[in-house]
Amino acid sequence: MDAAKVFLVGAGPGDPELMTLKAARALAAADVVLVDDLVNRGCLAHVRFDAKIVEVGKRGGCRSTPQAFIERLLILYSKKKKNIVRLKGGDPFVFGRGGEEVEALRAAGIDVEVIPGVTAGTAVPAAIGIPVTHRDYARGVTFVTGHARDGAEPDWQALARLGTTLVIYMGLKNLGRIFAALAAAGLDAATPACIVENGTLPSQKQRVATLGTLSGEGFASPALVIVGDVVRFASAGEVRTAVTHAKAA
Ligand code: SAH
Repeated sequence: MDAAKVFLVGAGPGDPELMTLKAARALAAADVVLVDDLVNRGCLAHVRFDAKIVEVGKRGGCRSTPQAFIERLLILYSKKKKNIVRLKGGDPFVFGRGGEEVEALRAAGIDVEVIPGVTAGTAVPAAIGIPVTHRDYARGVTFVTGHARDGAEPDWQALARLGTTLVIYMGLKNLGRIFAALAAAGLDAATPACIVENGTLPSQKQRVATLGTLSGEGFASPALVIVGDVVRFASAGEVRTAVTHAKAA
């Protein structure tokens, strides 16, 4: 058997049509696919009927497969199969632990190719009309996590002063604390802010308010929090959007 190869593939933010052509091609060639629970099942439409699909959920707060176990599984499959796809939500290297998986595979002498994906951090704001770096309103965009493994948090004080749009992944649980820290650091309470749950999917739900008034009540993971003047472009209020999907072939 030829040497196995693991493709670390980004599935995009939700809507299966936001996956890349390269990702679809890797899925079509895969003998086995290890998939995260954040990945929309529509993305698996490209997988061959005789390929094996292994679910390895990791969503915060839910029952999950420990990271070390996933890495062992990948190494195990690469001894038995030729084309292995590790399919992860969004982009595999943006808060996706893709880096850890590449390290483990390379240490085991396994060939890895990374296929980037569309990250939620840009696609989800876009889904409600937010241009994250509109140059009249933002000097850039900063991606941060609101829920770090070691409990250490981003420097909210510094972020409050940056003048960039703030895109917070996994920020829902600590929303109150994060917003209090940003306000205490001097960020204006009137700064537009929003939460988007299930962005780009038909179940997308959003709430647009301000730093001073936004509440996460009634929202669940996966949700993205966006803070900054560009949020004024968001579709107003609390709405459920039906995203346009092409009919599956
Ligand atoms: N690698 C992924 C992020 C993984 S971390 C990426 O590049 O997008 C998981 C977090 O991403 C979620 O807790 C949430 O904050 C965000 N997220 C992912 N998909 C989302 C979606 N469709 N809508 C809203 N937030 C999403």
